[in-house]
Amino acid sequence: MGTRECGHICGESSPGIGEGGKTGEWRNSRPVIDDSKCTPARRNRPACFLCWLYCPEVTITKTVPLRIDLEYCKGCGICAEVCPAGAITMVDEEKFTQ
Ligand code: SF4
Ligand code: SF4
Repeated sequence: MGTRECGHICGESSPGIGEGGKTGEWRNSRPVIDDSKCTPARRNRPACFLCWLYCPEVTITKTVPLRIDLEYCKGCGICAEVCPAGAITMVDEEKFTQ
């Protein structure tokens, strides 16, 4: 549960800051955003944010451009699945350790 700026209580959650929620080293793939395809970055205004809405870990910012906190991202790929612009690609973690 969360509270919006207007004071209404809603089902929106906030990131669980702390060691407990951190992903560690077990994530298989990570989301990579292409700002040239992402609607908010492309139009330079708040829009879409479907990835933010559906991310179960609340690790995506609702900003322009948006960013993903990889400390908490679990690599589930939901953000890439729901993105209507194909702006998020899931990339194998091995690609970042070579
Ligand atoms: S891969 Fe999953 S946890 Fe990571 S940002 Fe996307 S939806 Fe959130
Ligand atoms: S769903 Fe796709 S286009 Fe929409 S804000 Fe997220 S990355 Fe950008």
